[in-house]
Amino acid sequence: MSASLPSIVLVGRPNVGKSTLFNRLIRSNRAITHDRPGVTRDRMEGIVRRKGERPFGIVDTGGITLDAHAAVAEGPEGIRGFEADILRQAEAAMRQACGVAFVVDGRDGLLPLDEYLAAHVRRLGLPTICVVNKVDGLEREEEMLAEFHSLGFPLVAVSAEHGHNIRALMDELADLLPPEEEDAPEQDAPQLRLAMLGRPNAGKSSLINALSGEERMIVSDVAGTTRDSVDVRFSRDGREYVFVDTAGVRRRTRITDVVEKYSANAAIKSAGKADVTLLTLDATERVSQQDKRLMDLLDTRKIPFMVLINKCDLVPPDKLKALQKTVGEMLAFCGHVPLLCVSALTRRNLAKILPLALQIKQECGIRVGTGQLNRAMEEVLTRHQPPVVKRARAKFFYLTQAETEPPTFVFFVSDADRVPESYARYLERALRRIFGIHHAPLRLRLRSSHKKEKD
Ligand code: GDP
Repeated sequence: MSASLPSIVLVGRPNVGKSTLFNRLIRSNRAITHDRPGVTRDRMEGIVRRKGERPFGIVDTGGITLDAHAAVAEGPEGIRGFEADILRQAEAAMRQACGVAFVVDGRDGLLPLDEYLAAHVRRLGLPTICVVNKVDGLEREEEMLAEFHSLGFPLVAVSAEHGHNIRALMDELADLLPPEEEDAPEQDAPQLRLAMLGRPNAGKSSLINALSGEERMIVSDVAGTTRDSVDVRFSRDGREYVFVDTAGVRRRTRITDVVEKYSANAAIKSAGKADVTLLTLDATERVSQQDKRLMDLLDTRKIPFMVLINKCDLVPPDKLKALQKTVGEMLAFCGHVPLLCVSALTRRNLAKILPLALQIKQECGIRVGTGQLNRAMEEVLTRHQPPVVKRARAKFFYLTQAETEPPTFVFFVSDADRVPESYARYLERALRRIFGIHHAPLRLRLRSSHKKEKD
């Protein structure tokens, strides 16, 4: 039944209101709900259906006993006994899910077990929102939400019991779903998904046309969904490429603050559907605030991207150099991002774009073994020792790769607070050099032995 639908899993400690929320979300479909004792204890599955919207599955991993809940009150030590139980259920469900709704209790505030579970959810790397439940009125919403920001997930305040904000929650959940094409892949060919961002008139459509050639296929969204996305597909050297969401590319935006802000969000959303994002600037224009903002957003979200300065044929070399320098300075904190001067008209440098995008995608998937990492770490630490901070040096114990896409490396150290930003950047540069991660984003975490984390 729901096997073919993408599903979202509710994860959270006992008593935060997952079952109430589950029932709210599936309200009219209660009949479809079923218990699956043999598979995973107390796992409930249902379908969220709304008129004219894409249905999706919802999984509740609930089912922790009251005794276990009593242990929560005892603090982190009390957690130990049954954390494995919650995690086993949640992780089994998350393996099949495409997104996570991490549920917390707004009245209880942030508890150690929330943080513990959130860390596990983060490690899985699925799109996640944090649902702050039991927020019954608007007056205290901000206040109740405040402490949950530290979890690093987008927040939605709801009251499962009173139905407050459930509609908005459904919208947020729908946004976690993968683009519809992925539900029913038409072929197995390796596919590279690209997003083309940039201001109106920068030349995005011209570039897409020039890159995709005559053979392209325009795929409109399936009827019945709210998204107005249009994909442009084409093949090159046995590989399929897709420019996602190109409808947004053609839409003209007005320059008001609200619209600018919204379209940056829309841009980020499209970027999230792609393997690699292309941000196109217009060589004949100054770099806008919005372009700058987009670069920052893409960078902080660790989205793989490159910057194209288009219409190079229209500006003299010295002016182009100056522009390149300006953009380079804006990208100073993400030196890995490639910058190409191109022309959709003369085809200058166009041949470099797709191979570069492929390279970025490949680098994002790099996985390095722990042995190799630790040998590299030795070398890197010997070349430059960590500096003395507050009369001591941080000791580095161990290095491991926790995730790919983007490659995420975790250093276990005696005290992350003793590792200054500059040294962290040195470590990043060294890892990039040794493992050939030139243009992909990379995440580096420092974890103290007393478990504090610093990005
Ligand atoms: P979009 O709004 O970003 O999709 O921009 P378009 O692709 O519609 O391009 C806007 C205008 O710029 C059109 O008149 C294009 O012909 C022109 N244009 C696009 N790329 C180039 C380029 O590389 N060189 C020149 N000279 N004109 C270009």
